Amino acid sequence: MSETDRAAAVLTVDLGAVAANWRRCAAQAPGAETGAVVKADSYGLGAAKVAPALFRAGCRTFFVATVEEGIHLRQALPEGRIFVLGGPLPGTEAEFPAHGLTPILNSPEQIALWSSFARRRGEALEAGLHLDTGMSRLGLDRPAVERLADDRSLLDGIRPVVVMSHMACADEPAREMNTAQLEAFRALAGRLALPCPLSLAASSAIFLGPDWQFGLTRPGAALYGLNPVPDQPNPMAPVIRLRGRILQVRDVDSPMTVGYGATHRITRKGRLAIVSVGYADGYFRTLSNRGHAVIEGERVPVVGRVSMDLTIFDVTGVDAARPGAMIDLIGPGHDADALAAEAGTIGYEVLTALGNRIQRHYVGEA
Ligand SMILES: *Cc1c(COP(=O)(O)O)cnc(C)c1O
Repeated sequence: MSETDRAAAVLTVDLGAVAANWRRCAAQAPGAETGAVVKADSYGLGAAKVAPALFRAGCRTFFVATVEEGIHLRQALPEGRIFVLGGPLPGTEAEFPAHGLTPILNSPEQIALWSSFARRRGEALEAGLHLDTGMSRLGLDRPAVERLADDRSLLDGIRPVVVMSHMACADEPAREMNTAQLEAFRALAGRLALPCPLSLAASSAIFLGPDWQFGLTRPGAALYGLNPVPDQPNPMAPVIRLRGRILQVRDVDSPMTVGYGATHRITRKGRLAIVSVGYADGYFRTLSNRGHAVIEGERVPVVGRVSMDLTIFDVTGVDAARPGAMIDLIGPGHDADALAAEAGTIGYEVLTALGNRIQRHYVGEA
């Protein structure tokens, strides 16, 4: 019996589709370099497999969130630039050159830290600069940008390789804020006038149009098959399939109840499938009495509460539902965005919540 035959849940990741989605983003922004955001273990899909596949597709610039992620990624990716979006904290500076990582500097404190580290080492060190244009998250605010523009010595020892900002509502093309952020970014980056590429677009902003694309794009979600244009059909290729194992099938009839809290009441004769996936695997508890799965093309609803290790589906009349068979929790006809809508969240959270118990299986590369 192979590992896949006995696995309680299997996540199939199509690396060919990831590469195709990267090329799709590149074709959408022909004037820009297309990077790849592989933070949070490539949104839960496995950066050690995904990032090398992207490298083979031609990607040379990668983004992670933390130094720890960067150190791990470097083991799987001997070449290519790795930006650490969170930047350095005091005491972590030496990890960057030691592992070939490039920090994004998000505050005057981080700029000062990196500048003094570079001066101590006696060499110019590369870094990206992050300007805040409306997220109030990471990045230099307008006064900090002005101070930097007026006093270049603050950048002593730093060789800027990208100036970036991040969009707040690029997935809603009608929002005025998209143009406001574009203009703010042009103004602030223009004030600095550093000799390096600019970067504003994550997945959705790539599709806002050429104005947002600049010299380097940073898609994440779109690479993993999530829809970057939620008001239109998804232009990306599907990447994942999540299947759960049916452990038991049982006949039920009124007046039985189902699961914790007895939130579902059986009203007629039927059959239930007990599936070996629960909220510990990232199958959210908010899918209780709301989610759907697919078996042999038939949509079957979640009944009762999702528990830690088990979820119950009403499979009345579905002959394929047998103990040992697999049920599609995410797959054709029911993608991660659709499951997220049922769970009251976004596809990003569905992907990054997929648990360690789920066996990852990689396909789709020669
Ligand atoms: C996560 C992130 C991205 C990628 O965003 P997607 O919407 O997944 O494409 C790009 N840039 C920054 C700064 C991020 O934090």
